[in-house]
Amino acid sequence: MQPLIDPFARAISYLRVSVTDRCDFRCTYCMSEHMTFLPKADLLSLEELDRLCSAFVRMGVQKLRITGGEPLVRKGILTFFQAMSRHLENGALKELTLTTNGSQLAKFAQPLADLGVRRVNVSLDTLDPDKFAQITRWGRLPQVLDGIEAAKAAGLRVKINAVALKGFNEDELFPLLDWCAAQGHDLTFIEVMPMGEDMSPLRLDQYWPLKDLRARLAQRFTLTDLAERTGGPARYVRIEETGQKVGFITPLTHNFCESCNRVRLTCTGELYMCLGQEDMADLRAPLRASPDDAQLEQAIRAAIARKPRGHDFDYSRQKVAGQITRHMSHTGG
Ligand code: SAM
Repeated sequence: MQPLIDPFARAISYLRVSVTDRCDFRCTYCMSEHMTFLPKADLLSLEELDRLCSAFVRMGVQKLRITGGEPLVRKGILTFFQAMSRHLENGALKELTLTTNGSQLAKFAQPLADLGVRRVNVSLDTLDPDKFAQITRWGRLPQVLDGIEAAKAAGLRVKINAVALKGFNEDELFPLLDWCAAQGHDLTFIEVMPMGEDMSPLRLDQYWPLKDLRARLAQRFTLTDLAERTGGPARYVRIEETGQKVGFITPLTHNFCESCNRVRLTCTGELYMCLGQEDMADLRAPLRASPDDAQLEQAIRAAIARKPRGHDFDYSRQKVAGQITRHMSHTGG
C-alpha cells in the first residue's frame, strides 16, 4: 500500500491517539474541576479505534502514542493495546507507547509490558504530596509513585514530563532532576500553554518560559545541545556533569515543522494534521459509513494532502493560544 506522504514530502509515521476525554485528575492548567465530558455515542469504540489505527499502520505509521484524557481509565483499554500489539508482532509497528498520569500504572504496567510496550511517559509536575494534590486537584502522589515503581519493575523505560510553572515547581528544578537521575528516568519539561476561555485560567504569573528554566540549569551545569529530533516540538540537551538527557517541549514554537511526521486523532475520530492549526478531518463518518475500509483510507489520504507546511505561533497572539489549548484538550496534549 502507498505510504502516507504529505504535500511537502514528509512521510507520516507517527500517530498520536486520544482514546478518551475522561480523566481521573483535574490538573488546574488542563481541565476545569467540573468538566463536561462527551456523550458516549460520540466516542469511537475500541473496535473503531482498532480499525482506524490499523488503517494508519497499513499506510506507514510506525509509532503509535496512546493518550487521553487519561488513557488507562478507558474501560477495556488492554483489549485495545492487545489489538495493537499484533502490529508490533508482525513488524509493521515499531513502537507502541502511551502518555499517562501514572495513577493506574500499578495495575497496568506489567500487562502493558507483556503486550510489547517498552516506554511510557508519565506526567508528574512535583514530588511534594501537598503540591501534587493542589495541582491535580484529585490526584494522590503515592499512587503515582507506586505506578512509576511498577513500570520500572516491569522493565518499562520511564520518561517524566513536568509542566514548568513559575512559583509552583520552580524550586523543584534540581530536586526533580536529581530524583530522575537516581531513579534512572528521563526528564522533559513542558512549557505551559495559556488556557482557553472555557477552562480555569492559568495565572499569568505562572508562565515560566523554558529558556529561563534552561538558563537556570546552565548556571549549575554544562549543557550540550543534542542533534536528536523526534519530529515533534521537543529538543534535548545532555548535562555533561551527570550524563543525564533533559528535554524541553515548547508546544507553541514552530521549531521543527520541516521534519514534522505526526498527526493527532481525537477520541471522536477527528484528525488534526498540525498542532497549530484548527483544520481537521472527520474520520468517524467514513469509518461508520461502511465496514469496508476503502472510504476511510480515502478520507485519511485526503486529510494528509491538507497537512500544512507548518505553523507560526506567538504568545502575544492570544487568539491562537486559545485555539491551541482547545485543540490540546481534545487531542491529549
Ligand atoms: N492524562 C495523561 C497524562 O497526564 O499524561 C495524558 C493526557 S495529558 C493532556 C498530556 C500532557 O499534556 C500532560 O503531560 C500534561 O501535563 C500536558 N498538558 C495539559 N495541559 C497543558 C497545558 N495547558 N500546557 C502544557 N502542557 C499541558
